Amino acid sequence: MQTQLFINGRFVPAESGETLASLNPHDNSVIAQVSMAGPADIDRAVAAAKAAFPKWSNMAAMDRGRLLLKLADAIEANADELARLESLDTGHPIRDTRNLDVPRTAVTFRYFGGMADKFEGSVVPVEAGFLNYVTREPVGVVGQVVPWNFPLMFTSWKMAPALAAGNCVIMKPAELTPLSSLAIAELMAEVGFPPGVVNIVPGLGQVAGQYIAEHPEISKVAFTGSTAVGRKVVQASAGNLKKVQLELGGKGANVVFADANLDAVVQGSAFGIFHNQGQACIAASRLIVHDSVADELLERFIALARSIRIGDPLDPATEMGPLTSRHHRDRVLSYVDVAREQGGRILSGGKAPDNTALANGCYVEPTIVAAKPGDRVSQEEVFGPFVTVSTFGSDEEALAIANGTEYGLGAGMWTRDLQRAHLFARQLKSGMVWINCYKRVSAASPFGGVGSSGYGREMGFEVMREYTQPKSVWVNVDADIPPYYPR
Ligand code: NAP
Ligand code: MG
Repeated sequence: MQTQLFINGRFVPAESGETLASLNPHDNSVIAQVSMAGPADIDRAVAAAKAAFPKWSNMAAMDRGRLLLKLADAIEANADELARLESLDTGHPIRDTRNLDVPRTAVTFRYFGGMADKFEGSVVPVEAGFLNYVTREPVGVVGQVVPWNFPLMFTSWKMAPALAAGNCVIMKPAELTPLSSLAIAELMAEVGFPPGVVNIVPGLGQVAGQYIAEHPEISKVAFTGSTAVGRKVVQASAGNLKKVQLELGGKGANVVFADANLDAVVQGSAFGIFHNQGQACIAASRLIVHDSVADELLERFIALARSIRIGDPLDPATEMGPLTSRHHRDRVLSYVDVAREQGGRILSGGKAPDNTALANGCYVEPTIVAAKPGDRVSQEEVFGPFVTVSTFGSDEEALAIANGTEYGLGAGMWTRDLQRAHLFARQLKSGMVWINCYKRVSAASPFGGVGSSGYGREMGFEVMREYTQPKSVWVNVDADIPPYYPR
């Protein structure tokens, strides 16, 4: 297992010699001591990235793509080890890391490997006598700061498009979960990425993350994390007017109309909120149900929640693991009191499991809370296996509740009425909408939010625009055009 900083193609200790402990949230045992980057290390990484940039950005795009494709193959070849490492460091059940996180990581690198030589500029129809063409140039050295909830997957979401477009990368993983991105760095070195193109600098957000956001020679920062830290990143970026891309928090509305297929709703909603212990920005954290089906749906939803197998993430039978840190577990549980204070009712869960084998871990039972739409638990991102339930009578009321938070990342609805579905989709204040499904994501489809959920998009062609700048080139193709000077 690699535990040192990855700078200029080599694993090196931090200049300060300091390390951070990475824990296994199943029992809070220490898995590894990981080098902790400070400003001097980030300066070294930036110097390496700057030096690598001219050659990398001028390389044939197909050759950059070829390296990303090789990396995707290497990830698949090492899938079991990567899944195990990710489960150990994050607490995600191994069945998820093996079946979802690792394959999706490979797919994302492969998608952008294919994208590298297909993202084109344009020729603009301007007045006769002139040719105007637009090229897309990489931004330069880009900083990427990611959270702990899907560390492996986010490594691919952030790095793959940046590299396909010809940028060089400085990535800071979350302090809680640095291991899988270092494992990817090891594979990158193996498949032949040139030194300096990617640098991974685990460290503290307030030190390393903040320094990346401020750094005068980093041209762009792509940040995934909380809205509060997103604001700090914007402020820190002002010095050199960095391009900023923000994927922030969410409070996903999951609206169930009276005509919905309740079997699908129960399954889809449980996946929407309980997958990854609810630690997903796009979690279906607000169940908003039509009065007429609320009782039946809740009875079935609660029964499913109670049947979820909670346990050691490395056990293939486990469906739900621990939250990623004790601090976060305590924060999630504190929302049980917040709910009660405002009259909320705990319908299921609301505590750590009774199982003594899990007593040292960061476990929380699937928690379902009846709450009013304006209550704090219905407004603030809890980021755990914690879902609020409220009811509505009319479509207008459902829309007002769905749109009634500061966030606008993902939202879903369940209905058999085609017209209502599309009308509602148009009216939702949300970057992504799911109809009769929840939390669908693809490397090819734009991902991101509006409002306090941030700006900019990951995935697809949209993210290639984020990682490039247009250059407009004018050519006089008619030598006889006289110079024009207004008098
Ligand atoms: P966070 O506290 O905002 O941290 C995210 C990252 O920022 C971590 O690497 C953190 O470092 C770093 N950081 C902390 N302070 C910083 C600063 N002053 N300057 C620069 N970087 C700094 O978020 P989190 O609690 O780890 O993650 C959960 C949040 O991420 C939730 O709000 C969730 O919705 C959001 N999220 C959004 C998306 C999306 O695509 N929209 C996806 C996933 C998660 P440390 O690790 O040292 O704290
Ligand atoms: Mg850990």
